[in-house]
Amino acid sequence: MSGLQPVRGTHDLLPDDMRRFRRVADTCGRAALCFGYQEVATPIFEFTEVFKRTLGDTSDVVTKEMYTFTDKGGETVTLRPEGTAGVARALISGGLSQHLPLKYFYVGPMFRYERPQKGRLRQFHQTGVELLGVKEPAGDVEVIAIGVEFLRRIGAWDRCELELNTLGDAASRQAYRQVLISYLNGFRDQLSKESLERLEKNPLRVLDSKDENDQKIVANAPIYTDYLTPEATAFFAEVKAGLDALGIAYRINPRLVRGLDYYCHTCFEITCPELGAQKTVLAGGRYDGLVGLMGGPETAGVGWASGVERCAMLLAETPRAPRPIAIVPLGEAAEHTATILAGRLRRQDFIVDLGFSGNMGKRMKRANKIDAVAAVILGDDELARGEAGLKLLDSGEQKTVRLDELEAALAAYR
Ligand code: ATP
Ligand code: MG
Repeated sequence: MSGLQPVRGTHDLLPDDMRRFRRVADTCGRAALCFGYQEVATPIFEFTEVFKRTLGDTSDVVTKEMYTFTDKGGETVTLRPEGTAGVARALISGGLSQHLPLKYFYVGPMFRYERPQKGRLRQFHQTGVELLGVKEPAGDVEVIAIGVEFLRRIGAWDRCELELNTLGDAASRQAYRQVLISYLNGFRDQLSKESLERLEKNPLRVLDSKDENDQKIVANAPIYTDYLTPEATAFFAEVKAGLDALGIAYRINPRLVRGLDYYCHTCFEITCPELGAQKTVLAGGRYDGLVGLMGGPETAGVGWASGVERCAMLLAETPRAPRPIAIVPLGEAAEHTATILAGRLRRQDFIVDLGFSGNMGKRMKRANKIDAVAAVILGDDELARGEAGLKLLDSGEQKTVRLDELEAALAAYR
C-alpha cells in the first residue's frame, strides 16, 4: 500500500475531466427526460445477496469482480457493480409494483475488481435507463432509442454501431442449450478452462468468451435464432420493425449474449471501434425474470447501462468552463470593496473570482489564466469617484463604469 497513490483502477476527476463527465451524464439525463423518464439514485452498496441472487453465481461479476466486505455490524455488503439490481431491489422494497410502468434513469459510480487498462477501471461510472412493467417489444425499441438519442447528442452515434440479438424465451433457451452443449462437448479438449466451467454451469456464456481459440470454436456453433420459438421470433421481428421505423440502423450479431444470467429476448450493445479493445459504450437488454428472481412480483423489464468514462473519450472537445469575472483591487481599501462587490454580483448570479494577493500585473495574469471574460479593476481614485475600470479580456477594450451601474455593464457576461 502506498498512501499517496490513488487505488489502482480509480481516478480523480479534476475540472477538465469533470466537465467531460458532466457533459456525458447531463446529456444522457436530458435524453432520458425527453422520453418521460425520471432520475433515481439507489445506494452504492447493498446486501451482497442483492447481487448474488440477480447476477447469478456464474457471472464474471459475481465470481471475480465484486467488492464485498463485512461491515462493523457483521453484515455482508457489496459495492454495487451495476445499477439494475439496485433498482429492482428498490421496486420490491418500496412496493413500487403498483405504479407500473416505471421509467427511470440513473447515473453513479460502479465498482468492479477488474484488471485496470484503458477503458477498464475499478471505480467507473454508468448512466443507465430502466423501463419496468412493459412486456411489449415497443419497450425495447424505446429503450434503445434513448441510447441512440443520447449518443447522437454527444456527437458519437455516427461513429458507433448497434449490435442486436435475441436470447428468446425460456422454451427457446431450453432447446438451444441442449444443442449448444452437444456441440461444445465435441471440443472439450480444446476449450479454455473458463469456458469448460461455463459449459457446466451456464453454457450460453461460452459464446461470450474472450479467448481467441474459444472464439474460433464458437464461430461455428449452432445459431440461437434457428432454435427460437415462433413467439420469440415474432417478438424479435417487432423489435427490428420498430427500430427500422425509427431509422435506427443495427447489425444482427447472433453471438451477442449478455454477461448476466437474467436476460431474455432482446440484447444489444453499442460499440465504437475507435476505442479499441474496450469499445462497448452501452449495453443492455430485456430482463423479465429479474424482479421475480429476487422474490418480487413477476415484472417485465428492459434497460441499458453506459460507461461514462468511455463515452467521455468520444467527446470531440472538452466543454469550456463558464467564464468568470475577475475583480482586481489595487490597495487595501479597494480590497474591502472588492469583497462586498463580489457578493453583490454573485447574488445576481454572476460568476466572480477574487484573487487574494499580488499586484495588478499578477492578478491580471491570473484573470487570463482562469479564462475570465472581464476584469473589474478597483483603484482608490476611481473608487473615490464611485467608479471602476472594466477591461474586456478578449478584445483588450477598457472603459470606466459607474459602480452602481456595474450589473448593467456586465449583463452580457453573466
Ligand atoms: P465487458 O464485457 O467489457 O467486461 P460488461 O458486460 O462487463 O463489459 P456491462 O456490465 O454491460 O459491461 O456494463 C455496461 C457498460 O459499462 C460497458 O459497456 C462499459 O461501457 C461500462 N463498463 C463496464 N465495466 C467497466 C469498467 N470496469 N470500467 C469502465 N467502464 C466499464
Ligand atoms: Mg465486465
